[in-house]
Amino acid sequence: MKMKTIKCEKRLCTCCMEVHEVKTVITRDIATFKEQKVEYDAEYMYCDIAGELYADERQMLENDIRLKDAYRREEGLLTASDITDIRGKYGITQSDLCSLLGWGGKTITRYESHQVQDRAHDTILKKLDSDPEWFISLLNGAKETIAEDAYRRYLKYATLLYEADRDIYLRKAIEADYVRFKGDSLSQGNTELSLDKVVDVIRYFSASSDVTSLYKVKLMKLMWYADSLSYKRRGHAITGLAYQALPMGAVPVGHNSIIDLKDVPCEEIDMGEGIAYHFSLSGEGLEFGSLSDEDIAILNTVIQKLGKMTKDEIVSFMHKERAYMETPPKDTIQFRYSDSLQI
Ligand SMILES: [Zn+2]
Repeated sequence: MKMKTIKCEKRLCTCCMEVHEVKTVITRDIATFKEQKVEYDAEYMYCDIAGELYADERQMLENDIRLKDAYRREEGLLTASDITDIRGKYGITQSDLCSLLGWGGKTITRYESHQVQDRAHDTILKKLDSDPEWFISLLNGAKETIAEDAYRRYLKYATLLYEADRDIYLRKAIEADYVRFKGDSLSQGNTELSLDKVVDVIRYFSASSDVTSLYKVKLMKLMWYADSLSYKRRGHAITGLAYQALPMGAVPVGHNSIIDLKDVPCEEIDMGEGIAYHFSLSGEGLEFGSLSDEDIAILNTVIQKLGKMTKDEIVSFMHKERAYMETPPKDTIQFRYSDSLQI
């Protein structure tokens, strides 16, 4: 039999009842569980004198879980530690998770050790893993049965997970939208799309006291000017966004998703005839980690020249750009016109 020694210490050997060097070993065990033959690594003690493997209580319990986990893997079920990890993501206790799911109070505790969950429960736990929004709705349904401070803590964890998931999804969607520009460096200003920079550029404009009433149309123009000025100065844009020529000037491809990205300080204001998107950011010691000093200098020039313009002023200023005039409506504005940029 193949054994791997992981420890060796002099102690009372409970196999032969002598004191000698006792090895702790890992062997490959084969067992049948629920009519399924499974292989797994088991831990034992080994007595050289008797030539026998034996297990203490802890090892017996752990080997049993290893056997069950091997079975769970074979069957495509979550392992005991997978379930512990899912619970850990939400920071929820075993018994509170049971209340949330309407399961008996010890169910999760048993699933996190030797009891193999049934398939229906397995599906529910997997859904919980991938769907924090669902966790939140279950949590609200079980609010009465969970302590107030615990409820708030779980809600906070789940909300953070939800926002992170949503942001990953949004970023993927925007990036997918940009696949068509691959290899087309004049549309993205010689730069690969960096959504971190996009978010930081928006935050920087939003935080500036020299940018007045910043709504979406104006913001989109400021972004185009920042990328164009960057291209003019250095031969590459800041963000890698591609801009379309729309009636009110340049608008980045994916603009609706971009303003929904996490950390974009966008506030929806109901104007009666529709929703206006207002951008502002306050606070001390704000950081813009993805932007270089050169990037910031460019943003400052844009702010200095255009920050105080009204929406109408900036739209008509943009209409005089050669880049805009020479681009057919709805086409992508090429960065090669940046030499004639008005700023
Ligand atoms: Zn022994």
